[in-house]
Amino acid sequence: MATTSIAPYADLYLCVSGERLGASSREQMPVCNPATGAVIGYLPAATGDDVRHALEAAARGYARWRAVPPHARARILHTAATLVRERQESIARTMTLEQGKVIAESRLEVAAAADIFDWAAEEGRRAYGRVVPSRSAKIRQIVLREPVGPVAACTPWNFPALTPARKLAGALGAGCSIVIKPAEETPATAIALLEALLDAGVEPDAVSVVFGDPARVFEMLAASPVIRKISFTGSTAVGKRIARLAAGGVKRLTLELGGHAPVIVTARADVERAALLGVAAKFRNAGQVCVAPSRFIVDGAVYDEFVERFEAAALQMRVGDGLDESVQMGPLANARRGVAVEALVRDAAEHGATIRRGVVPEGGFFFAPTVVRDVTVAARALNEEPFGPIAPIVRAEGFDAAVEEANRLPYGLAAYAFTGSLEESIALSDRVETGMLGINHFGISLAEIPFGGVKESGYGSEGGSETLDAYLVTKSVTMT
Ligand code: NAD
Repeated sequence: MATTSIAPYADLYLCVSGERLGASSREQMPVCNPATGAVIGYLPAATGDDVRHALEAAARGYARWRAVPPHARARILHTAATLVRERQESIARTMTLEQGKVIAESRLEVAAAADIFDWAAEEGRRAYGRVVPSRSAKIRQIVLREPVGPVAACTPWNFPALTPARKLAGALGAGCSIVIKPAEETPATAIALLEALLDAGVEPDAVSVVFGDPARVFEMLAASPVIRKISFTGSTAVGKRIARLAAGGVKRLTLELGGHAPVIVTARADVERAALLGVAAKFRNAGQVCVAPSRFIVDGAVYDEFVERFEAAALQMRVGDGLDESVQMGPLANARRGVAVEALVRDAAEHGATIRRGVVPEGGFFFAPTVVRDVTVAARALNEEPFGPIAPIVRAEGFDAAVEEANRLPYGLAAYAFTGSLEESIALSDRVETGMLGINHFGISLAEIPFGGVKESGYGSEGGSETLDAYLVTKSVTMT
């Protein structure tokens, strides 16, 4: 196997006020390598006291960090970005070991996390207020944009660097303190980001990382009166619980939730391009991507050609350990996902779909790239987020039918379309109910463009010139 080397994993700890908290008398949670199923480390679980200390730190840290001038905060975040880039290879290996994605994807993700630190650094320097002309020469009216206060953030395991980076950078760039609870499956990547921030000079009380029983730890954080803003990325089911919790304290909330991204391929598309880019996007991170294409809605006029090209590319993908540079798709993140995805495939077969599968190695949590063709919209795979390497392809009779099918579900995170027609592109931009739309490509997630969903996929954006909106409040001051 062309594995680059056997990488050691990482020390696992909580970090509160810059203090690294190891096992001691804390409970320990195993962390697995999904490519082998082997336990590679044990993560200490936060006690109630640990969470209380993190909240106290966030209150102290907020007072200190917001007093640091934006210019100085920006310098610190730029330094963190540089450190993340310098540490790219070791963070990427850590990520592949704990999450499973192929090493090339891990490297790109680490680079993207560094870009996000740089972006938020600059946006923090542009948190402009304004002067409002007054009705009297003796009155001056100004509008200030101020940090919202201490933030509680929670992130899933599928993008262990990118998603924590968005929340850490946004909060710190705006002058907020933050306590983050990343996923317990992928802790070391988040710890590496925290170390870069502390090494760069972020006030230690302003940034803490805790892990533990997710509901207990995060609900304790989010319900605390110290916390003024909650930012959650994860499933829609858990997001709805968090929304109720936030409502109890009238707290600001950003929700980045599940999706079920349609890919419309119209009769006027470049079918080869749609199929080849579609395969690359579909099987990235074994389909465990919130914006992964998950329903290919293909016009009847080009359906057979699309399916043929898509299958040819998908079924020959090389699946294996993500540390092997020649591998194109890694394992699922855990055994539970395999069971859930297989149930969707079986259900699709019962609904009359034809199933074609690629090849997988023995062991680990591997799942073959799977093409599910001629599936009907009643199948579960076309209604529930698959979050795995299965590609359902449905036939649509005409443009309007395709748009209607794309909008049928309660989700609205990402959507894609392939068409050679400007007229269709404009109609798609107007009519598809989604937070992000990619036409003729899949590149929708960059630091400089807003990332977020509509409908049950959540609300609020991260990234773009919207980066700071989530972490700032507006105060008007009128004086005479
Ligand atoms: P999840 O909702 O189970 O977990 C997300 C986070 O919430 C984790 O840190 C987890 O430990 C924590 N959590 C779990 N139960 C909790 C509870 N009761 N209270 C508080 N916190 C809890 O989601 P997952 O299965 O880990 O991640 C996959 C989901 O995340 C998918 O639905 C995917 O679409 C979504 N996702 C969305 C985006 C986005 O930006 N919209 C990005 C990545 C993933």
